[in-house]
Amino acid sequence: MVKVLILGQGYVASTFVAGLEKLKKGEIEPYGVPLADELPIGFGDIKIVGSYDVDKSKIGKKLSEVVKRYWNDVESFSDDPIISQGVHLGSVEKLPVEAEGLEEKMTLKEVVDRLVDEWTKLDPDVIVNTCTTEAFKPFDNKEDLMKSIENNETERLSATQVYAYAAALYASKRGGAVFVNVIPTYIANDPAFVELAKENKLIVLGDDGATGATPFTADVLSHLVQRNRYVKDVAQFNIGGNMDFLALTDEGKNKSKEFTKSSIVKDILGYDAPHYIKPTGYLEPLGDKKFIAVHIEYVSFNGATDELMINGRINDSPALGGLLVDLVRLGKIALDRREYGTVYPINAFYMKNPGPLEAKNIPRIIAYEKMRIWAGLKPKWL
Ligand code: NAD
Repeated sequence: MVKVLILGQGYVASTFVAGLEKLKKGEIEPYGVPLADELPIGFGDIKIVGSYDVDKSKIGKKLSEVVKRYWNDVESFSDDPIISQGVHLGSVEKLPVEAEGLEEKMTLKEVVDRLVDEWTKLDPDVIVNTCTTEAFKPFDNKEDLMKSIENNETERLSATQVYAYAAALYASKRGGAVFVNVIPTYIANDPAFVELAKENKLIVLGDDGATGATPFTADVLSHLVQRNRYVKDVAQFNIGGNMDFLALTDEGKNKSKEFTKSSIVKDILGYDAPHYIKPTGYLEPLGDKKFIAVHIEYVSFNGATDELMINGRINDSPALGGLLVDLVRLGKIALDRREYGTVYPINAFYMKNPGPLEAKNIPRIIAYEKMRIWAGLKPKWL
């Protein structure tokens, strides 16, 4: 059994819950879940014990009611907790959402104590962070992070940083827990949080779920490296019509994404080819099915220059929802093995910016095999 708590009950988290429910009932095939039925933990073993949001229209509602706003084809829900109020710290500022965060009525230290108390009652093994993309500044050292909470620095801290801090205290009290961060904020890439995690029996997985065009570009780049082709430039962009793309029209938030996406170029090529890789716009009629385009120019034998042009329409939220079905189960396996800190073999396959900070992006085809070996499964092609 894996008990899961969700932070940010939006499109991705609701797609995860809806798809999981259908998997449990055998209504869909596990397509889009990389390890499908290969793990010792089955879909029926995943239990949603709690969910948090700051959207006033979601707080206090049943999980099923919120999920049905995105997917109204789910007949019944095996778990149906009430959505609790989280910490806001400006996460949905400038978006068409009326938000209310716990910090409006208490200090951050009190917020953390309250979250730890509530989580202790709900007893999740794994806490999954799917909040709106936020602007953030990493901490690097644990003391500064702790001081910031102590001094109630609401301008300095992002919601994810407060949640991850609370998760560490919760893990220490419970004797182990997992924090899965699929948004760009540095948690598995921030030494302050990795150190805090090690000391408190927390496992942090992250950062930023690897879906859509980025892992695909990483694989195409590794294909070119293997053939010793010289990449001259890479252009990759996305335009989408969901709330996350609207959030990314904010410059501070877009910067967070740009960084996690761009780290693949140098990591894989070994040199920094000029590149433009970022979400570029919001177009409401596209909805959750974003438009992606990739253009790569490279030099081949005898100085010939080739160009690759790839276009696609990709359903954004199901791509990450499927990965979450694996991440919560792998998180529980890591917890049972007490691999406190962060687990690179999981991050390298599932995350755009795999932690820890000093670790690099490797081609996904290799990361996939390493992750399987870590999970105790037979490699696929090695
Ligand atoms: P969304 O806007 O539909 O959902 C985000 C939810 O989080 C909303 O319900 C919002 O009210 C809530 N929220 C915001 N701030 C909060 C806070 N401080 N505390 C609690 N709840 C909060 O967005 P989405 O499409 O579900 O994407 C969620 C996250 O997943 C984004 O950060 C995005 O960068 C990340 N992500 C998505 C994909 C993908 O969709 N394929 C891939 C990688 C990463």
